[in-house]
Amino acid sequence: MREIVFAGKIQRMKRIIVFAILLLTLLSGCSSPAPGETPTPAPDLPSPTEGSAGGDGIPARTATPVPAPSPTLVPLERAQYTLTVTLDYARKFVDVEQTIRYPNHSGEALNDLVLAVEPNLWVNCFSLSELEIDDTPVGAYTLDSQRLTVDLPQPLPAGATLTLALKYSLSLPEIAPTDPNLQRPRIFGYSTRQINLTNWYPFIVPYEAGAGWILHDPWYYGEHLVYEAADYEVNLRFADPDSAPVVAASGFVESSGEWTRYTLEKGRTFALSASPEFQVVSGTVGEVTVFSYYLPLNEKPARAVLQASIRAVQAYERAFGAYPHKTLSAVQGDFNDGMEYSAFYFLPRDFYNLYDGTPQNYLTFVAVHETSHQWWFEQVANDQALEPWLDESLATYSEHIFYEELDPALIPWWWAYRVDFYQPEGWVDIPVYEGGGFRPYTDAVYLRGAHFLEDLRQRIGDEAFFAFLQDYLSRESGRIATPDDFFRILRQHTDADFSDIVGTYFQTPH
Ligand SMILES: [Zn+2]
Repeated sequence: MREIVFAGKIQRMKRIIVFAILLLTLLSGCSSPAPGETPTPAPDLPSPTEGSAGGDGIPARTATPVPAPSPTLVPLERAQYTLTVTLDYARKFVDVEQTIRYPNHSGEALNDLVLAVEPNLWVNCFSLSELEIDDTPVGAYTLDSQRLTVDLPQPLPAGATLTLALKYSLSLPEIAPTDPNLQRPRIFGYSTRQINLTNWYPFIVPYEAGAGWILHDPWYYGEHLVYEAADYEVNLRFADPDSAPVVAASGFVESSGEWTRYTLEKGRTFALSASPEFQVVSGTVGEVTVFSYYLPLNEKPARAVLQASIRAVQAYERAFGAYPHKTLSAVQGDFNDGMEYSAFYFLPRDFYNLYDGTPQNYLTFVAVHETSHQWWFEQVANDQALEPWLDESLATYSEHIFYEELDPALIPWWWAYRVDFYQPEGWVDIPVYEGGGFRPYTDAVYLRGAHFLEDLRQRIGDEAFFAFLQDYLSRESGRIATPDDFFRILRQHTDADFSDIVGTYFQTPH
């Protein structure tokens, strides 16, 4: 989710939102693009840059051996990403050697590969110095904005695997302050207290037989990327080990000399946040260790985040199915946005300041919302640009499920404060590009989405509702689900007629 801080000044906020929506519309004309039209990039989106041979500013490599990748004895089910990363915290500079072992499960022979290179949305950030396929330099590639297209020397047959190797550096951008009502903060980059590596490495986007590569344009709010599940090994060291920051990351951590290795299986996207100021509290739930990283003077809210995340993992394991990873890291962002990644999520800085010591606040329900994305996003992925309701409506309704477990007496408060205060309107199944502004988009997709799921649950009953969710999780885990998958599996769990409910909330019949 993205849940942006409103500083608790609700009435003022409503006026700001109305103003912001007007302003956003004026600035961008961001009503729905015409069919076939490419949405206009946000006004502050950095211009595309061309990759160039690395040179200026790349720190010297040393001969220190990198830990060897673990051998795999099973057939390659998923792409395997191995990254060797040197982070120069002081200079905001990252040097990366990366390999991707990519199995072609598309069912078609592939003539090219398309990778998302989000750092290339910033000017002079991404610098590509080497690109090889199976140890042979790539002759032809194009890097245009976020899209890296690599022509294959010969077609990759269905079922075959290749290895792509890249060397590149990142000169990190500053996380510039933004008006939270107008556009999302850019999480990637550095602030005075934090470096965030999110969507920071090139990754091969999903390929859909008949449709091709899936890489949507960025938008002002919401998310636009779609992720295959993959396995990750990230080996990290610091250019200056004597002043190494504290690191929060997706994945299980092991240290070996100057290197720290993170491993993540069947993950969607590997995120990392580093700060010399980070403090951390942790706890366990079953076999899972939950960490809450925070900036100084925030211990009380950080402990509340930890407890809410632990209670949420318990509630969602009972309601949906098992948590998929060994760790979960909740991280206080030095910016005001919440966002989910694999086994990792950010919470907005100001929610910590506004925490009032009760569970009735944004810090708590956004923490459990982001936690639920480890089921609805991480396990069952979806097209976040075109069908954002698939994860966001479930993540929002998962807040309801958390409060049912914590204290059912809080449910009326949750509906009133979290949802109905905004008098939400709009179709649940709009693409992010048709949101008409952050607030209307959130109202339609998240808040009306929660009402849709509540109405559906009332109609079909708790037993069928939770049996459906468990089955949907089990069958779609590791995949990219579609609305057709959602409704097909739903209908296998109920004979009830819910067509009127679908007609109320959805513009597309199901
Ligand atoms: Zn969400």
